[in-house]
Parts: sequence; structure tokens; C-alpha cells
Amino acid sequence: MAEVLVLVDHVDGAVRKPTLELLTLARRLGEPVAVHLGRGVEEAAPVLAGHGATRILAADASEFADYHVVPQVDALEAAARAVNPAAVLLPSGGEGKEIAARLALRLGSGIITDAVDIEAGEQGPVATQSAFAAAFTTRSRITRGTPVITVKPNSAPVEAAPAPGIVEALGVTFGAQARGTKVVARITREAAGRPELTEAAIVVAGGRGVSGAENFALIETLADSLGAAVGASRAAVDAGWYPHSNQVGQTGKSVSPQLYVANGISGAIQHRAGMQTSKTIVAVNTDPEAPIFELSDYGVVGDLFQVIPQLTEEIKARRG
Ligand code: FAD
Repeated sequence: MAEVLVLVDHVDGAVRKPTLELLTLARRLGEPVAVHLGRGVEEAAPVLAGHGATRILAADASEFADYHVVPQVDALEAAARAVNPAAVLLPSGGEGKEIAARLALRLGSGIITDAVDIEAGEQGPVATQSAFAAAFTTRSRITRGTPVITVKPNSAPVEAAPAPGIVEALGVTFGAQARGTKVVARITREAAGRPELTEAAIVVAGGRGVSGAENFALIETLADSLGAAVGASRAAVDAGWYPHSNQVGQTGKSVSPQLYVANGISGAIQHRAGMQTSKTIVAVNTDPEAPIFELSDYGVVGDLFQVIPQLTEEIKARRG
């Protein structure tokens, strides 16, 4: 059976959830082979094996941590040339998409980014993408070279699928560009105790309707009752009510959770661009004509200052 490469997203061997989702998709196309770069393969290997990785190609070098992107491209290219896979899957996100683009160029392959689903096809994998505020769904197949596909978080379930997960050393020769951009400082962000916005299964977001930084406590309390991440519209962020790192949209982060709760957000096209692929969308807005309702699965026409506290209480009561 053909092998499918999956680039492992991890922090010192702690495998992030989107990688496990990629392994689920890879199993539809062939035998998943994980590519683990940097420290921590001992910790990662049992997790990867438990989710379907038949082999784990591992390389560790200071270049992976000390320099941006290119060392990973060098390694993934080496893996692709050694394995000749049916596809290479990477997590969507700034870094994943840059690695994918550079890899596709080097392999002379086609590329698909921000896929929300992948199926096996007779002539290769067929990827689904969502476009223009989810007004269109496209299905595409790469017609040239080894398909390189990036997949949005939360696009597939995490499934246990025990496999051998044999760790093998991947030989990598770094090219001239590998040390082109050096990381000169690393500052750890203060942990908010909430999931990472782009990976979260639930996102609770607030917009201009929240009417002030102090009122974002309402959004945070609702988020915490659901174990969710907090997002914000650009209007809320530009007003200084919430950090830029939490902005969702065209010029912010792209999220694709199971559940997106939009509070006091009108649903401008630039906001939709960052959340349109959410599986279930709930909107709370005083204006029944707000465009966000066109996109919503469930809508509450009402004042968020009345709706959110009641909703939070109800969720807390049901969760015990
Ligand atoms: P508004 O559009 O002002 O909507 C506020 C909503 O709150 C209204 O629908 C109102 O009915 C409702 N409301 C008011 N009070 C209450 C209440 N008490 N209870 C319930 N509902 C209430 N925007 C982004 O979000 N992300 C981006 O990445 C982004 N990138 C952009 C890039 C470009 C190049 C441009 C030009 C714009 C971009 N924007 C982006 C801005 C975007 O066009 C909108 O201006 C912005 O999304 C509006 O934010 P909002 O929905 O919070 O505010």
C-alpha cells in the first residue's frame, strides 16, 4: 500500500491535536508515515503509533529550533524523495503553509492549502476547500507530482488506530538557505489556561457589540464554561478591547472549530473569511438583519448582555 507522509506538529515531542487529525486522513489514502523533526521523538512515538503511524522518520538537529522553516523543508524533501509517498499532509497555519509551498516548488508538485476534508480518489487524493464565506465548496485533485496538502485543524476526528510506529533515522543535508533566518529570542506567552485559538474545538468570540474591554469578561466566562478559546472581531481588537493575537478573520487568525459562537459580531466578509469553515455556528445579535445570521446554524436575536449570562448559567448547570 502507498505511504503518506504527515509532518508532525509538536513542542518537544508533545504532539499537537491537528497532527492526529492528519493521521486519520492519511489512513484514508494509504499507510501513514510520520516525519518528526527536532527533539522529543521518544515522547511522540507512542502517540503517533497509537494513531496509525506505521513508521516514524526522525531527525534532530539544532537547525530545526534555531532557524525558520527552511531546515524543515530540507528534511521533508529528503523524506519525500526517500519514500515517494502518495501525498504529503501538513497542518494549515502560517508555518505549515510556508513549508508546503516551498516543498511543492522543490518537488515540482501541485499544492492545495486549507483543505477541510480529503478523500481517496482513483487518480489521487481529492481535497475539499471552502471558499467565499462558505458560499462555495470546491473539490480538487493535484494533477502534477506528489500531492502536497495542508489541512485546517478540526477537519477530521482523532481516532485511535494502533500501528507499529517504528522509529527510523532520517538523513538530512541542510542546503545553503537553511540558516537564512535565525531565531534570536523566544518569549513564552503567559498561559491563559485556554486552548490555542486555531486548534480549539470551540471558539467563543466577541465583536463591537460587546461595547468595551471590561465586558469581554462575559465572553471569557462563557468560553470557560465550554472549555473554549476566545476570539474577537477586528473592530473589538482595534478598539483595544482584546489582544490582536485573538483576532479572527482575513487579517487575523483562521479558525475551523466544531462550534463557533459569535456575539455582537455583524458578520463582515473579512470576519467570515476566518471562521466560515466552522462546523456549527451560533450567533447572538440584536439586529435580525445582521449578515452573520446568513451563515449561522442557530441564531439568537437578542442583547448579548442578557443572553450570555443566561447561556453561561445553563451550560454550567448542565455540566454540573
Ligand atoms: P460591527 O460590524 O460594528 O458589528 C457589531 C454587531 O454587534 C452589529 O451587528 C450589532 O447589531 C451587534 N450588537 C450591538 N450591540 C449588541 C448587543 N448588545 N447584543 C448583541 N449584538 C449587538 N474584521 C474582522 O473581524 N477580522 C479581520 O481579520 C478583518 N480584516 C479586515 C481586512 C480588511 C482589509 C478590511 C477592510 C476590513 C477587515 N475587517 C476584519 C473589518 C470588517 O470589515 C468589519 O469592520 C469588522 O469585522 C466588524 O466587526 P464587528 O462585527 O465586531 O462590528
